[in-house]
Amino acid sequence: MKACVYADLEKVEVVDIDLPSAGPDEVLIKVARAGICGTDLHIFMGHMDQRVTKPLVMGHEMCGEIVEAPDGADYQVGERVVVEPTVFCGMCAACRRGNTHVCQNLNFLGIDSAGAFQELWNAPVDRLHRIPRELSDNAAAMIEPLAVAVHDVRRAQVELGDQAVVIGGGPIGLLVAQAARLDGAEVIISEVNPYRLNVAESCGFRTVDPTKDDLAEAVMSWTNGAGCDLVFEVSGSAPGAKVMTDLLRVRGKVALVGVHASPPEVDLHRFFWRELELVGCRVYESVDFERAIRIAAAGEVDLESLVSKVVSYEEAYWGFEQMRDGGDIVKVLIDCQS
Ligand SMILES: [Zn+2]
Ligand SMILES: [Zn+2]
Repeated sequence: MKACVYADLEKVEVVDIDLPSAGPDEVLIKVARAGICGTDLHIFMGHMDQRVTKPLVMGHEMCGEIVEAPDGADYQVGERVVVEPTVFCGMCAACRRGNTHVCQNLNFLGIDSAGAFQELWNAPVDRLHRIPRELSDNAAAMIEPLAVAVHDVRRAQVELGDQAVVIGGGPIGLLVAQAARLDGAEVIISEVNPYRLNVAESCGFRTVDPTKDDLAEAVMSWTNGAGCDLVFEVSGSAPGAKVMTDLLRVRGKVALVGVHASPPEVDLHRFFWRELELVGCRVYESVDFERAIRIAAAGEVDLESLVSKVVSYEEAYWGFEQMRDGGDIVKVLIDCQS
């Protein structure tokens, strides 16, 4: 059967692999769609070579249908599911505190072991979530990144009437903006890519292009000089980290979502002077997946608009190139039965 693997630096290959067999506590899933994530791009660019084993079947944002389930399992053949790809040890200090999502021995499916860019995928029964009929395959493949966003706004403790700035209008930024709005926040998205600015505006958000307008000035005029309540730093960029402290009101809060591979410059004096807070946000917990599925099924967030293209295995490389080069895309999904 077909799979898409990270073969080597900036090399994604379509390969023929053996059918996976499901272990005793696993189901076999016929994967319908799988999204290419920013993390997959990091793998593609070689940034995670010390962590991954090549060739690696990537992919952790997916949806599919169970084709094989163990006897007596809670899930049956034919059910549509998504996988929460965080397999934890249950024994480390993080797990013992109940924070299994950031397990110190985490097996993140699609990074630390084989992922969803294949026709059939074996996944642990206890990591599954059911998908209701009203969610299309494209929307269901966006549940994992939506769960990230739901987790982020929960960590940030968004309150009704909050004015929030989301720095970075990629898939996660656009989902964070939608989740924050759902919790009652007014949101400005800061983004440099014109295509993504357009998508943000079509989702009903105010936008600022910081290469054209001064972001801090725009936020100060929006908040009558006070500064905003919340900043979601989703860009993972040095300019994002530099500007985030300039946007906040006294006792405002930064929710750090983006991956900063090297330590960026941060204005700690501003943290002191304005008594700012910083909260780290990483992946999600099962409750975030459950809420993501609920709000998606209820039509409270727009997922379809973020899907820019569905590609075949052979076209997956194009998707990686577009992401690397800042192309006119938000989310690219792979049709895993192509
Ligand atoms: Zn992801
Ligand atoms: Zn653990």
